[in-house]
Amino acid sequence: MTNSTRTGARTFDDARRWALIGAELISDAVAGLDDAGYAAPTALPGWTRAHVAAHVAANAEALSNLVNWAATGEPTPMYASPEERAAGIERGRALPAAELSAWLRRSADALEARMDRLTDEQWRHEVVTAQGRTVPATELPWMRSREVCVHAVDLATGVSFADLPAGFLAALCDDVTARRAASPGPAVTLRAPAAGAVWELPGDGESIGITGELHDIAAYLTGRGTALRAADGSPAPALAAWL
Ligand code: ZN
Repeated sequence: MTNSTRTGARTFDDARRWALIGAELISDAVAGLDDAGYAAPTALPGWTRAHVAAHVAANAEALSNLVNWAATGEPTPMYASPEERAAGIERGRALPAAELSAWLRRSADALEARMDRLTDEQWRHEVVTAQGRTVPATELPWMRSREVCVHAVDLATGVSFADLPAGFLAALCDDVTARRAASPGPAVTLRAPAAGAVWELPGDGESIGITGELHDIAAYLTGRGTALRAADGSPAPALAAWL
């Protein structure tokens, strides 16, 4: 990663707190949805709210597999295969609204309960994510908070990036910038003066300077649309898909 001014690296306790906040946001977001509400489209191509909800519930179960792995030392991957992952989403999205909402809540609570039971030593055990990364189990709360907080916005029931904790948004920008640095696109320097933070996306040519609010920068970096403009008024350059 190139030089990014951090607003403070996230801690384990931060990530556990954000995972709870995000799960609560999702739970509240779907509370009033009936079947028609769940059938509404989202900003994610081809996905209704039901797809997003089923994906988040399946994610909790997949991360629970990694928590079990950390607890027992027995390798239990997030998903048995890409096909199984897709099938879980398809099954879930076809559920009646009340059952889908209940699955979301139940899967989130079960994951939290499993994490609560891990010992300090088990938290340090390494597991392998669906993307093939080997990480200590202490990374799992961050992976979960990213899923629930970003998908709470994707559900398009009124939650926006501005509703997410500032510390989470800064950690998200750190994370996405690091991943984007591995496959450079346009060179962009993003400044959030109110948050005292700067993120650099390395790339070809002179870096395009963009200044904005932390929540707008997080939306831009995660490919969730943008109101951001360069100093000369031109739109922020399009970025490749993230994750
Ligand atoms: Zn996701």
